[in-house]
Amino acid sequence: MAGNDATAGPVRVGVLALQGDFREHLAVLTALGAEAVPVRRPAELDSVSGLVIPGGESSVMDKLSRVFGMAEPLRRAVHDGLPVYGTCAGLIMLADRIVDGIAGQQSIGGLDVSVRRNAFGSQTDSFETDLVVPAIGESPVHAVFIRAPVVDEVGPRATAIGTLDDGRVVAVEQGNLLGTSFHPEVTNDYRFHEYFLQKARQHAARPSA
Ligand code: GLN
Repeated sequence: MAGNDATAGPVRVGVLALQGDFREHLAVLTALGAEAVPVRRPAELDSVSGLVIPGGESSVMDKLSRVFGMAEPLRRAVHDGLPVYGTCAGLIMLADRIVDGIAGQQSIGGLDVSVRRNAFGSQTDSFETDLVVPAIGESPVHAVFIRAPVVDEVGPRATAIGTLDDGRVVAVEQGNLLGTSFHPEVTNDYRFHEYFLQKARQHAARPSA
């Protein structure tokens, strides 16, 4: 699995590269000192200590993950405790329940939340705001929302870690899983990625690794 030498060098993490803005995440993770690799095949998933699921279009990512035989391996990896960070469409992929998905849309699941796609409507396709997310530090994070989902309901196993002024939840955590409605990879503030890498390093260093 994730390598017994994990503590010796940079942590090796993947970015699901079926669709969406995976290149931006690879660049951020590399800049943070990780060995970041694109993941498109089940075997590639076995070699990483964490995975980012990028933004893009969740219905397309869902179809491609099934076509490429990645859906079940991803479910297994999440179930087995792999740290996974989903941004925007990636958050939708991680949600146990999708509201306003296209017909037949499935998710990988793992996060005990209901996520509503395109929750800000066509009037507000994209917007930016500053959010305080204590889990990643005191200073506010600049959050960029692009046709973003919101978390409609947070189940008992998940925790809301970031909310808009009106109370809508846009960042959640559940053990090794992390999800944001917004896109830190398009800003210069990489604290969410660093937070994810901490989980990946711990995962790589676990006794059974
Ligand atoms: N609206 C997209 C979806 O439903 C998500 C947009 C994004 O990832 N920026 O998947």
